[in-house]
Amino acid sequence: MLIFDCKTKKEANKILKEISYNEGYVNMEKILIDYGKNIYLFNPSQKTDKKLSDDLPNILGHSFFEENKIAINESIPIEDIQYALAHEFGHFILHKEKFIKNFNLYNPLTRYPLGKKDISIFDKEADCFAANLLLPDKDMKLFRYTFKTYGYHKCSYGNKYFRVPEELFRYKLLN
Ligand SMILES: [Zn+2]
Repeated sequence: MLIFDCKTKKEANKILKEISYNEGYVNMEKILIDYGKNIYLFNPSQKTDKKLSDDLPNILGHSFFEENKIAINESIPIEDIQYALAHEFGHFILHKEKFIKNFNLYNPLTRYPLGKKDISIFDKEADCFAANLLLPDKDMKLFRYTFKTYGYHKCSYGNKYFRVPEELFRYKLLN
C-alpha cells in the first residue's frame, strides 16, 4: 500500500485545513474534542466496560460509533495513543455508517506490523488516514530530502518531532 497516493489523503488533508494545521505535532486529543468524540482510558487488566473485547491487553483502541466514543488502553505510550486515536478517528470519518449497520465488520485496534497484508481494507484505510493526518506531506518534505541525501540516521528523530510511533514515521518516509 502506498500511503502517499491513497484516497484517504484527501480526507486527512481536509481535516488539517479545518484545524488550520501549521507545523509539527498534530494534537489528536484536541481534534477529537473539536469533532465531538469522547475519549476514555481503560485499564487493560480490568474489564470495566462490558462492551470492550475480552482480549483487552492486546487492544490499543476500540470505538463505539453510535456513542461517538473511543476507548484507549491507558498503559500504552503517548505516541501509540496518538496513532490509535488517529486510526479510530479514520474509521469515524470513513466507515462509521458501514460499522453501525454491521458491527462485525469492525475490529478493535491491536498491535500489528504496519503494512501487514491480512488486515481488513477498513484497517488499511484507517492506517493510511492516520499516517496522512499525523505526518502531513508539507512537513515531511524536509525529512524526505534529509533521508535521501544523508540517510535515515539523520532524520530518525522525526517520530519525536511529530510524536508518533517510530514505525509510522518510517513507514510514511519509505512510501
Ligand atoms: Zn481499525
